Amino acid sequence: MHLGHLHGALLNWKNLQDEYQCYYFIADWHALTSEYAHPDIIRESTYDIIIDWISVGLDPEISTFFIQSEIKEHAELHLIFSMITPLPWLERNPTYKEQLTELSQKNVYTYGFLGYPVLQAADILMYKANGVPVGEDQAPHVELTREIARRFNHLYREVFPVPNVLLTPTSKLLGIDRRKMSKSYGNAIFLTDTDEEIDAKVAQMITDPQRARKADPGDPTICNVFSFHEIYSNDETVESIRSECPSARIGCVDCKRMMASALKQGLKPIKAKRKELEADMGRVKEIMEQGNTKSRAIARETMEEVRDAVKI
Ligand code: SF4
Repeated sequence: MHLGHLHGALLNWKNLQDEYQCYYFIADWHALTSEYAHPDIIRESTYDIIIDWISVGLDPEISTFFIQSEIKEHAELHLIFSMITPLPWLERNPTYKEQLTELSQKNVYTYGFLGYPVLQAADILMYKANGVPVGEDQAPHVELTREIARRFNHLYREVFPVPNVLLTPTSKLLGIDRRKMSKSYGNAIFLTDTDEEIDAKVAQMITDPQRARKADPGDPTICNVFSFHEIYSNDETVESIRSECPSARIGCVDCKRMMASALKQGLKPIKAKRKELEADMGRVKEIMEQGNTKSRAIARETMEEVRDAVKI
């Protein structure tokens, strides 16, 4: 996971733990929709992701973690929802076309990719979720889940609550090329990056595009490096950059160096926790097993109700 995930989702999930009974899962079947030609990476990433979650503060004692493919009921519910979901609902999904372009290097003109939001509906409704924490771009998918829940309830009987969107504030941190931070763009800073990798990536970061020379005044409000400072540097540093950058009293090289140092410092506790977990993979696997067992029991109950409602 990268800093975009950390500030766009994980830290928000961490806060939600105190307020809600949370379920977080590894969407490995979803990953197959775009990675079907190279599935090895999916299994390899599973434990990495769990370790990231725990390292940033998601607590397996409070929240439940599970692996989607370990709960086969998701596939059955997906199939039933596929029968009742009108095709135009999927084709008009605004993120579908966007993702086709974004993932243009992969062939995702598949049945599974189009039906991705139907599987998401199964993931959400299986646990009768009241809320789904998503970024703005994923909100249309939740809307589709709501429509599927309503359609199911209308066709058969009231089984599913209609879940709400718990909108996650979008991360201000962009990738090093100033586009949205994304692994597929190759512009991300990962939680697992070494100090040297962080230094190298920060050195390449695009700053205020209007500032070509050190003598030119800069504008921190449009500079991605400054957004990182606002999160990772102390108030004094942030204030001094805010006043020195527009009058060209500080250069971008120095500013980046200061930011990289604050960022490395800020990621230290996460890395330390990761190291501790990597040394105890037995514990990580046990956490997953416990979560799978708890989730499977709920999924079984829901599917009993679903089969009964559908009368099949
Ligand atoms: S001095 Fe810092 S805030 Fe100003 S443009 Fe350069 S990197 Fe951005």
